[in-house]
Amino acid sequence: MAYDDQNVFAKILRGEIPCTKIDEDEHCLCFADVNPQAPVHVLVIPKGAYVDWNDFAATASAEEITAFTRAIRRVAEKTGIIDTGYRVISNIGQHGHQEVPHLHMHVLGGGPIGRLVAGQ
Ligand code: AMP
Repeated sequence: MAYDDQNVFAKILRGEIPCTKIDEDEHCLCFADVNPQAPVHVLVIPKGAYVDWNDFAATASAEEITAFTRAIRRVAEKTGIIDTGYRVISNIGQHGHQEVPHLHMHVLGGGPIGRLVAGQ
C-alpha cells in the first residue's frame, strides 16, 4: 500500500493539525489520542512516512527502530504508568482495524486495561 500523505497523522507531523504533545525526538512524535480508551492513551508515531508495522519493520533504519522503541518507554515513564503496567498495541491493516494509515503504537494505561481481545 502506498503512503497517503493526506492522512491525519501526516498533517499533525506537518503542523497542519494540532496535537497534545507528550514527547518528541528526531525520529518520533508522541501525542494524546483524541478519543482516549484508557486514563492514559498516547500514540507514538515515527516521523518517517511508514504506512504500518509491516512497512516500518521491513524498511526503517536501525536508528529509527531503536528510537521508536525507546520513545514508547519514555512515554510510559512520563505518563507515570511504567511501574503499574500498560499495553502497547498496533493495529495493522483491515483485520487489525487500522483506521489511520501511518504507523502508530497505542500506549494504554493508568488503570486495568482488561483482556487483550474483548469477547464479541
Ligand atoms: P487505529 O484504529 O489504530 O488506526 O487508531 C487511530 C487512532 O487515532 C484512534 O484511536 C483515534 O482516536 C486517533 N486519532 C484520530 N485522529 C486523531 C487526532 N487528530 N489526534 C489524536 N488522535 C487521533
